[in-house]
Amino acid sequence: MAIDLSKIAKKNKIKYFLISYVDFFGVLRSKLVPSQVIKKMQLEGAGFAGFATYLDMTPADPDMVSIPDPSSLIQLPWQPDVGWLAGDLWMNGKPVSSSPRIMLKNQIERLKRKKLSLKTGVECEFFLISQDGRSIVDEKDIAFKPCYDQSALMRKYDLIKEICDCMIKLGWGPYQNDHEDANGQFEMNWDYSDCLTTADRHVFFKFMVKTLAEKNGMRATFMPKPFVNKTGNGCHAHVSLWNSKGKNKFLDTTDKLGLSKSGYHFIGGIINSAEALSAWFNPTINSYKRINAPVTDSGATWSPNTITYSGNNRTHMIRIPDSGRFELRLMDGSANPYLLQAGIIAAGIDGMDHKINPGKPEFINMYEESHKAKNAKKLPRNLEVALNKLSKNKMMNTSFTSETIKSYIKLRKKEIDLFKSSKISNIKGITDWEKINTLDC
Ligand SMILES: [Mg+2]
Repeated sequence: MAIDLSKIAKKNKIKYFLISYVDFFGVLRSKLVPSQVIKKMQLEGAGFAGFATYLDMTPADPDMVSIPDPSSLIQLPWQPDVGWLAGDLWMNGKPVSSSPRIMLKNQIERLKRKKLSLKTGVECEFFLISQDGRSIVDEKDIAFKPCYDQSALMRKYDLIKEICDCMIKLGWGPYQNDHEDANGQFEMNWDYSDCLTTADRHVFFKFMVKTLAEKNGMRATFMPKPFVNKTGNGCHAHVSLWNSKGKNKFLDTTDKLGLSKSGYHFIGGIINSAEALSAWFNPTINSYKRINAPVTDSGATWSPNTITYSGNNRTHMIRIPDSGRFELRLMDGSANPYLLQAGIIAAGIDGMDHKINPGKPEFINMYEESHKAKNAKKLPRNLEVALNKLSKNKMMNTSFTSETIKSYIKLRKKEIDLFKSSKISNIKGITDWEKINTLDC
């Protein structure tokens, strides 16, 4: 046992551990365990009934355990007697193949066999809203173009500072915080890392923002499109690929956009499977009100609607802002942090293995000149279409097993059935059903 959690508990005065896992729908589940038993739990894991969460299991299935990864330990900065641990799911002595964190680790392993690793950073946007979810919390935040508004940002200084202080304490390297493009919307950025660390931090960040917002009398939501006339919550990822000698495999300074052949092939893989990936990257019914949205009050949705890539141009699904990396702008705030990273790797490997040509980049303003790109493929119009694309996508079925893909589709289709059978009223284009089911995503 390289990292002994019981010793760390004594040294850092941790009284309780949250042994957690994330289910298929990205929900963070936990057991709160006293530090007196952490030695045993570190080895054997904490027990859960899988059927009770979003995993394709039955009530008759045996106990599933979450084995905590001690290297993921985060001592809650605002509650230092509690330590949070990300966990991997096991059942009957074997890893659960549909455990999202294990699904990501399997893809990392595939890259490792090629002596490669993925580094990513995520940009999590969120709204600060009233407890009932009906309105944004700052009544003065009404400008048509509120992006980077200093006064609106500083009116929320106490909370933003508290979250940023936590990230500084945790050593995440936060470097900027801003008011985003919609009234009530914010974004906080921290340094990129290896993709598993980023995924664990992404999970924790959402928990931290929601918890601290609540402590300050507000509610934070990562819902893709909580307000029909405002810009939605994206979750863009900046992606680069590295070899074991620390060389960026996407970097080619002789290329016009600064990207290597491997980089273009990697993008080719994502473009080739973008419709299927949408089922993971835009996993909720509400997601499709962000990517297929009409122009917002601010003048742009800032989300893609076509499967295209570009240079430093934010109107496309993929932007190459700088040499040696690209930004994938498809994902929204409801994406499962582990499936987000796992999907990028699987599609990227497919692109590199099959040398998939991404086609020519588009440099037009896609929001105004889409008629000039007649052959540009559209993103799925709703979750059902995306799930059908996922079920037929060979790359996804072979990378993650068709059994796992079937389970995911089964659970999401059940959700669509529930939505269709709901009698809840439609309020300004976003239904109450969506709010009840997505505000806390
Ligand atoms: Mg942003």
